[in-house]
Amino acid sequence: MNFDCKPLANYPLRERNTLGFDVVAQWALPIPQAEQIPVAIRWAKNAGLPHRVLGGGSNVVLPAQLPGLTLLMDIDFIEVLENLAAKTRLRVGAGTNWHAFVRWTLDHSFLGLENLALIPGTVGAAPIQNIGAYGVEVKEYIDTVEAYDCQTNQWVTLSRTDCRFSYRHSVFKDEPNRFVITAVIFDLPKVWQPRISYADLTNYFANRAVDAITAPAIFDAVYAIRTQKLPDPKVIGNVGSFFQNPVISNQQLQSLKGQFPRIVSYPESATHSKLAAGWLIDQCGFKAMQMGNVGVHDKQALVLTHRGGGNAGELLGLAGQIQKKVKETFGVELTVEPMIYSEQ
Ligand SMILES: Cc1cc2nc3c(=O)[nH]c(=O)nc-3n(C[C@H](O)[C@H](O)[C@H](O)COP(=O)(O)OP(=O)(O)OC[C@H]3O[C@@H](n4cnc5c(N)ncnc54)[C@H](O)[C@@H]3O)c2cc1C
Repeated sequence: MNFDCKPLANYPLRERNTLGFDVVAQWALPIPQAEQIPVAIRWAKNAGLPHRVLGGGSNVVLPAQLPGLTLLMDIDFIEVLENLAAKTRLRVGAGTNWHAFVRWTLDHSFLGLENLALIPGTVGAAPIQNIGAYGVEVKEYIDTVEAYDCQTNQWVTLSRTDCRFSYRHSVFKDEPNRFVITAVIFDLPKVWQPRISYADLTNYFANRAVDAITAPAIFDAVYAIRTQKLPDPKVIGNVGSFFQNPVISNQQLQSLKGQFPRIVSYPESATHSKLAAGWLIDQCGFKAMQMGNVGVHDKQALVLTHRGGGNAGELLGLAGQIQKKVKETFGVELTVEPMIYSEQ
């Protein structure tokens, strides 16, 4: 099938970035069908313009003028490929809303994704930073990723190994804009175990009978905990955690513990530990701080907020101050989690 490629000029993206910044894309093209992608990429290449993909805009910091072609990922479907005794295999369109998909799985008694409830954004973005929450990472359930490779101009299927998943990272972050993900194939095993070792969930279920800990109960718990702690982007602009939790050697952790006995950490491997970045930021006095139109959330210092009238420059200025102070105080580098786009 041939597709006409008619991108829309000066397309407003305020409703399509959860920080709520006023952003205008030079060109934008809604993509409800995968077959449009090669045509759109060719159009951008012929025009000498850069391209990028936007899902729900919940993990990006966008400039006021976004150059080139922005593909608005709208491919929306859920397909049951196999429903076997051992597992269910699902193929899901990249533009499908993540939370709606998680709810759909539970409605159909396909269990496993409940800890990842209420993460904003799309299914196609889930592999990009290997989304994770409450002790679970999406990589555990991804079988393959279908994508268009804009470098080789070919359709590709990437295995879990090809995706090179790690904490909030994947090949898609190493090679930004190379792959346009069109669908993700998930394997959900039929044998199910509750995953509630994360402190918030352990506390939530502390007084519940073991057989009350079902997947829908975990979904409800995660929903309740997240709504209490995190600002709703429809009310206060934000992209969730602005920084990754830093991973440091156990040796560095021991020396920090000497100075800061209450430092919050979690084992990451036999040799490394993860620090709670929110705790570090809180200790540096940034929690609830407001700086012009941007600030630090009062319930979770890891979340930077925008209440209107601000822009990427202001937000990145605040982020830079936080990084500097944390480095001076703890000797630890904070890595920014969302993708930052510039006007170039
Ligand atoms: C309140 C709040 C809470 C959050 N909580 C969590 C959390 O608990 N855990 C977590 O991991 N994240 C969390 N996030 C971050 C965010 O929701 C996730 O990273 C989500 O997967 C981003 O999806 P999106 O569709 O909005 O991606 P976008 O923001 O649109 O895009 C993010 C990046 O992925 C790329 N991309 C998106 N779709 C595609 C595609 N189809 N093909 C190729 N590249 C693509 C974009 O180019 C961009 O670089 C939170 C955000 C908010 C606002």
